[in-house]
Amino acid sequence: MSNLQKVVTIDGPSGVGKSTISRRVAANLSFTYLDTGAMYRAVALHLKETAVDLDDEASLRTSLDTLSLKLLPAAGESDDVGVILNGRDVSQDIRSPEMSMLASKVSALSPVREKLTHMQQEIGREGNIVAEGRDTGTVVFPLASWKFYLDADPKERMRRRAEQLREKGEQVDEGELLQMIIKRDHDDQARTIAPLCKAEDALLVDTGMLTINEVTEVLLRVIKEKNSALSG
Ligand code: C5P
Repeated sequence: MSNLQKVVTIDGPSGVGKSTISRRVAANLSFTYLDTGAMYRAVALHLKETAVDLDDEASLRTSLDTLSLKLLPAAGESDDVGVILNGRDVSQDIRSPEMSMLASKVSALSPVREKLTHMQQEIGREGNIVAEGRDTGTVVFPLASWKFYLDADPKERMRRRAEQLREKGEQVDEGELLQMIIKRDHDDQARTIAPLCKAEDALLVDTGMLTINEVTEVLLRVIKEKNSALSG
């Protein structure tokens, strides 16, 4: 008998198309989409607003103990999940470039990772989840049935992110955006706890040459093939 969980994990650096692809895979399978990055972003905002000294582990733990975090399903296929932090809707506030960088910083702290990993495992306990992040296949759901690691050249990822930001009417400095992506990748890969890396049993998909639709198709095909092999 297999003790694998009915969970899909989709990890990789920023700008590989993970969110859109994860949302589409979840919708196709009628699974719940779990955006773990949104949780790190919300914690970053919380720690910034409460001005917690990140070097003071006791204060950090106390602040995390009082944190209330709720995820709401995305309104549409191209929308991000909603996030309610301590009763307040922060869905927009957590999506700024500043919060991207701050989330990356606080995600290296072990009290933060312990708290969020535990919350994510609770959410995924019953299965039927598509979890997206950096460590969902390696740390959060090591027993997931289907694991993917998406990657692409940083310049290609920068171009995609720039397009998304422009669609939202934001000004983009491409050079600066590329530097931020490279720094975030480096910090996420270099941290000691739960660094960004491919799980040994994850399938690597280079999304640089494929459209979002094509990647989604590849993932769904692999999931369905493996599913029939598991149940057959
Ligand atoms: O995916 P997203 O860009 O929203 O994630 C923001 C940051 O949160 C990442 O750069 C990473 O540092 C952190 N993160 C993480 N582990 C996850 C998801 C996100 O460390 N599972």
